[in-house]
Amino acid sequence: VETRAHLVGHALRLSGRSSGTIEAKVVIGADGPSSATARGAKMALRQEVGVCIEYEMADVEIDPAAAEMYFGTRCAPGGYAWIIPLGKDVANVGVGTRPAYLQGKRLRDVLDTFIRDHPIAKEKLQNGEVTAVMRGLVPAGGMPPAIQKENVLLAGDAAGQVMATSGGGIPLAMVGGQAAGDVAARYIEGVGVLGEYPSRISTEMGKELENSVRIRQIVDKMMKSDRLMDTLFAMLPSDQMKATQRGQIPKALDRVQDLVANR
Ligand SMILES: Cc1cc2nc3c(=O)[nH]c(=O)nc-3n(C[C@H](O)[C@H](O)[C@H](O)COP(=O)(O)OP(=O)(O)OC[C@H]3O[C@@H](n4cnc5c(N)ncnc54)[C@H](O)[C@@H]3O)c2cc1C
Repeated sequence: VETRAHLVGHALRLSGRSSGTIEAKVVIGADGPSSATARGAKMALRQEVGVCIEYEMADVEIDPAAAEMYFGTRCAPGGYAWIIPLGKDVANVGVGTRPAYLQGKRLRDVLDTFIRDHPIAKEKLQNGEVTAVMRGLVPAGGMPPAIQKENVLLAGDAAGQVMATSGGGIPLAMVGGQAAGDVAARYIEGVGVLGEYPSRISTEMGKELENSVRIRQIVDKMMKSDRLMDTLFAMLPSDQMKATQRGQIPKALDRVQDLVANR
């Protein structure tokens, strides 16, 4: 049985395994994409969220040194499917998109179809066994206008610290959580102010997060057509593709934008 915490005014009310109220000098809301802390502090969450489902699969025939991303209107409309190795023959296999792109389909059916029918992926996955299922929401619109309000700091998914291009949020949640902890500790020691947190986050990841949202908005327009996506990938050399995943705007972006505008 876990303990849930809910921010009520300036106090945290606990329920579940532990109960009671904590009057904290600082509250760090690292409580995920539906953050109760953000809602309790009346801080806006970004509305744009993705949905993901992932199987852990054993006995798959994969290259353990390669993380694979698959794009296409059939296998992952409006998002991508992935095979991320966890070992020699074990991998996380998933799909993520935005609800609007599902057009009534169940996300789990999209993943099952990918595993069963994708001409390349099925060769690797069809003999695999599903050993666990993970699912959840992923913020896809960058950070909300405020990630600090009075004595509340938001970190990780609660603060939209997720690359909109990939939905990857683990490294950013670690950086955001550490920064929030450092700033809170300095504040409690009387040597810092909580306003340092948004500035520090802006330096650490602000530009990359903004860029990732911008790139995703452009790619969204191309995802409606597999031919456009093929053209996009043909225009991006592998170093620029890598840079895109790290939130850097690729040099070819202007040409890509022209391509989209001319359609
Ligand atoms: C299926 C799936 C696959 C993913 N794969 C990847 C990947 O391969 N690489 C990657 O970088 N990112 C991935 N992500 C995104 C990644 O999981 C998140 O960005 C990351 O976990 C964010 O960490 P967090 O600590 O901010 O939030 P979370 O991991 O969501 O942790 C929040 C915690 O707060 C707890 N909590 C929530 N509300 C309360 C409350 N009221 N009281 C007490 N506790 C509460 C929750 O139980 C949870 O333990 C994936 C997401 C999904 C859904």
